[in-house]
Amino acid sequence: MLLPNILLTGTPGVGKTTLGKELAARSGLKYVNVGDLAREGQLYDGYDEEYDCPILDEDRVVDELENQMSEGGVIIDYHGCDFFPERWFHIVFVLKTDNSILYKRLETRGYNEKKLKDNVQCEIFQILYEEALASYSEDIVHQLPSNKPEDLENNINQILKWIEQWVKDHSS
Ligand code: ADP
Ligand code: MG
Repeated sequence: MLLPNILLTGTPGVGKTTLGKELAARSGLKYVNVGDLAREGQLYDGYDEEYDCPILDEDRVVDELENQMSEGGVIIDYHGCDFFPERWFHIVFVLKTDNSILYKRLETRGYNEKKLKDNVQCEIFQILYEEALASYSEDIVHQLPSNKPEDLENNINQILKWIEQWVKDHSS
């Protein structure tokens, strides 16, 4: 059976991992966290001193994922989306969280003041939404609210319905 590939993106803290794991559990699709994948394979290309984090080797990440993406049925979770091949994804969801809620979530994570401010700014300016629109056909890019548990449940149900329809449309 042919299955779609789904991209979950958005500012750190908006709820990509929470949604991605739950969606995988309920759809049978495979969940891939690109941050974890990079850590496990040490797919890095230098270190960012200012943000105190390693820099992703985007080409190696793409190479690493190419086979399973061409098979289909993968949910990708990452706070960036401009380096994945456009052809990989059948749908793109950009999660969106209110500033004050995001601020609290990132504070709980122990982010330093600069990282906190930069990430909330990233959300205010809809950087990831713009990046998604610049990287994928705009009719496959959707924003999803991600503030409360009810949003999570709604998002999951909506995406499950979309998957079901996609599978129907692609079976012969
Ligand atoms: P990301 O993977 O985008 O960085 P996470 O999935 O780790 O975000 O979520 C960040 C925090 O926000 C977690 O504590 C998670 O439980 C919480 N969270 C995520 N989605 C929701 C939601 N819809 N309602 C309430 N809290 C949420
Ligand atoms: Mg995450």
